[in-house]
Amino acid sequence: MRQWHIPTFRLKMYFCKPILVCKRMDSKTLISQLEETQILSKQEFADLIARHTEDDAQFLFERARVVRERYFGKSVYLRGLIEISNYCANDCYYCGIRRSNDTADRYRLTEEDILACCEEGYQLGFRTFVMQGGEDAHFTDEVLVHLIRNIKSRFPDCAITLSLGERAKERYQKLFDAGADRYLLRHETANAQHYAQLHPAWMSHARRIQCLWDLKEIGYQVGTGFMVGTPFQTPELLAEDMLFIKELQPQMVGIGPFVPHHATPFANETGGTVEQTLFMLGLLRLMMPQLLLPSTTALGTIDKTGREKGLMAGANVVMPNLSPVSVRKKYDLYDNKICTGDESAQCVNCLGVRIASTGYRIEESRGDAPGWDNRQ
Ligand code: SAH
Repeated sequence: MRQWHIPTFRLKMYFCKPILVCKRMDSKTLISQLEETQILSKQEFADLIARHTEDDAQFLFERARVVRERYFGKSVYLRGLIEISNYCANDCYYCGIRRSNDTADRYRLTEEDILACCEEGYQLGFRTFVMQGGEDAHFTDEVLVHLIRNIKSRFPDCAITLSLGERAKERYQKLFDAGADRYLLRHETANAQHYAQLHPAWMSHARRIQCLWDLKEIGYQVGTGFMVGTPFQTPELLAEDMLFIKELQPQMVGIGPFVPHHATPFANETGGTVEQTLFMLGLLRLMMPQLLLPSTTALGTIDKTGREKGLMAGANVVMPNLSPVSVRKKYDLYDNKICTGDESAQCVNCLGVRIASTGYRIEESRGDAPGWDNRQ
């Protein structure tokens, strides 16, 4: 027995070794598997994010374009971004409009200002208005309900998206009942410990995540997302973001590189890269083929043709700025933000040319999530 036992063991070791080596799948196989099954394990996502080559990335983007065109053809959806206030009660370490930034030049738009932006946007072909801002107590439920009703009565064929941070569920409900269609709230990071490294202790990760579930339950089309390359981020944490998004099943995911702002605690941190952001866009497209995926301003900020590259990596939405030129520089989330000097019309024309260069084209519609039965 003993004589046989040892060689058998050795034999097993010998045959097991190549099997162990094969077990780590190469990146292209993982990408194909993601396309086929629309999910990977946390370890597989992390490996892919950490180990892919430029060649793997090109392969991913090709597959992402095929998948994107299956559902959206060559269309790119437009959303007009109106930055309604840079007052903020929160104090996110990465954000230029955080409340501790005494150097921020604060402003808020009036209802009249906002309606004028919508009017201009409507003429330019926008059918979605995104109202984004810091958490500004001025925008009570009453103020917002009045504003939403007014926009809806003047532009009944337009969708309203809000991106105004965390609120109690019944307050989100009031805004939904007034006519808001969609809500954007990036989860920022799916990991509570990482969240605590990016925010002061009094800001709660659990509360932010709960807000997302509340928004879904109410019936909003929900957008979430995260920055790529924030301090302390690792491939494992990005893998957790992917899995959280898969679980939440949002209609939209906004991702862009972290870009340092000079008057924040992260002023001297390194920003995210174009390559890593594009790779995450491609992965998101394969994981959720019908996702609305913007090619963000932050991506256009760190690379002159970043937004075009985003579209070529699987993105299908652009969000040009419709804010009045007088306030654009003040909505200063990060340094060197682009499009802060141009009139809205210039932004739209410029984007139109950029999009045409990719072979895609702007579609003039609300651009709801595929299959979404809107309330009109
Ligand atoms: N108050 C709203 C809007 C926040 S600003 C809310 O809480 O959702 C919109 C997004 O800008 C944030 O969710 C964040 O992901 C991004 N952002 C903030 N600072 C940034 C920075 N320094 N670099 C890149 N993106 C940033």
